[in-house]
Amino acid sequence: PLETVEKIWMDGELVDWADAKVHVLTHALHYGSGVFEGIRAYATDRGPAIFRLDDHIRRLFDSAKIYMIEVPFTYDELVAATIETVRVNEVESCYIRPLVYLGYGEMGLNPLPCPVNVSIAVWPWGSYLGDDGIRNGVRMKVSSWKRHDPNIMPPAAKGTGMYVNSSMAKVEAIKSGYDEAIMLSPQGFVSECTGENIFVVKDGRIVTPPTSAGALEGITQSSVRRIAEDLDIPYEVGNILRSDLYTADEGFLSGTAAEVVPIRSVDDREIGEPGPITRQIQERYFAAVKGEDERYKDWLTHVRD
Ligand code: PMP
Repeated sequence: PLETVEKIWMDGELVDWADAKVHVLTHALHYGSGVFEGIRAYATDRGPAIFRLDDHIRRLFDSAKIYMIEVPFTYDELVAATIETVRVNEVESCYIRPLVYLGYGEMGLNPLPCPVNVSIAVWPWGSYLGDDGIRNGVRMKVSSWKRHDPNIMPPAAKGTGMYVNSSMAKVEAIKSGYDEAIMLSPQGFVSECTGENIFVVKDGRIVTPPTSAGALEGITQSSVRRIAEDLDIPYEVGNILRSDLYTADEGFLSGTAAEVVPIRSVDDREIGEPGPITRQIQERYFAAVKGEDERYKDWLTHVRD
């Protein structure tokens, strides 16, 4: 069960957690017609700081644009609302879930007449793939479910309905005794995981799949890129085959919820203990989010300033 906090922001007002409810004929509940973000705030020596807030809110607006959902608030209003929601709940760190969804008032597949609602919820959330996963790595399985084709579901948008695909892959992986799924594109290239980007390390180079393989352009992925560049570790975007996963020197995942997580094995082919490049990226990432590295201060929005 979720660890609750006091307030959830709904359409411009802070309401009590228990009262943050919707009608059963909410369009998004039936047709998956919503877009969302996943953001984190971390404890720093200056109180909680939201990591890369502007990039996340920008991506939320991009997702809405792709789905032709008109967000009834401005970018500045949603930035301010997110900060306010973290502040009033008096959490030191939390996960943050802004959601823009088609609400109650119309049914049927034409979404255009529907009212648009916006909510922002926060809650304390530990390591998404577990503390052991962060330390020792996770066991991955290539899913029998493919990732979206960009002309069936646009992977650049974080659409709520798209995540049924992720959930199917997640369930398959867990039921088969693994921690997380790796999904291939319809063309058979490695795409991403159910809610994380994927990276392999071979001969000292980091490689991650392109958006054309169906991967979301992750904000954590772009933090990894910047950190790799600052460490002078070669970083490439390129197609990865399933067999490249098996023979990788190292592998890791990145995502806001998951953070940076080493891959221990793929389809029972051992990759082994987290390697030196994975470790360095992971350490720098955690230092960045906690405000411990001056170079990445611009990524933080302090909520009590
Ligand atoms: N891929 C998918 C499918 C995701 O849902 C996420 C999480 N938003 C990611 C990758 C990682 O993106 P980010 O680093 O921006 O959280």
